[in-house]
Amino acid sequence: MSLIIAIDGPAGAGKSSAAKGVSRLLDVDYIDTGAMYRALTWWMLEHDVDIDDPASIASHAEDPQVEITWDPEQSRVCVDGIDVTVAIREQQVSARVSQVSAVPAIRSRLVQMQRAMAYESARSGRGVVMEGRDIGTVVLPDASVKVFLTADVDVRAARRAAEDHVRNPDSSTGHLDSALANLKDRDAIDSSRAASPLTMAPDATLIDATDMSLDEVVAAIAALAGERS
Ligand code: C5P
Repeated sequence: MSLIIAIDGPAGAGKSSAAKGVSRLLDVDYIDTGAMYRALTWWMLEHDVDIDDPASIASHAEDPQVEITWDPEQSRVCVDGIDVTVAIREQQVSARVSQVSAVPAIRSRLVQMQRAMAYESARSGRGVVMEGRDIGTVVLPDASVKVFLTADVDVRAARRAAEDHVRNPDSSTGHLDSALANLKDRDAIDSSRAASPLTMAPDATLIDATDMSLDEVVAAIAALAGERS
């Protein structure tokens, strides 16, 4: 049976870095579901869809063609054939993505895609590590390993600001105050929305990464996977 690992948690907890590390260590596919929500948000902004109007967002939920690669060394996201890997990390997308993600039509479309991708990884025998907000609760409730990764909000903001700065030193992102405000806003919307809110699955293992290095987090998740396989 292929290994299916679900990693959920709030923004900036280090889910992507941990999931990529686990993917490399255990040689399983890597799927960043947040990138898919960001890609749809990028498209809505690009097409002047009113983000404050859930009905407008829902009416366009099926329009964008989204493709993502499953490789941790080459994670690329394309929408309608345009490579948006860098653009989806910009502040204007981060600021609106939680509103777009709260729309049920957006979620049902992406959850369907995510399940199909995980099924394909499992069917081919590769296994997968998928990270997001609702993977252990909604997308893959039968995952062999479920982790809820969190960390102190100030630590999360500092890491996110540093990452944003490395990615784009000239951008307005990369400032601690704006990173902190954005994380808090997104966590509040993601946790309180009606459709599959951010919450820990009852059978998930909580990992608080506040005082842990990335290698320690990866090792802890790999150990859980070793126990279950
Ligand atoms: O993981 P990342 O921080 O890039 O995710 C961006 C946003 O996408 C989250 O704040 C959340 O609104 C949404 N998201 C979601 N469900 C997922 C993954 C991400 O609602 N499974």
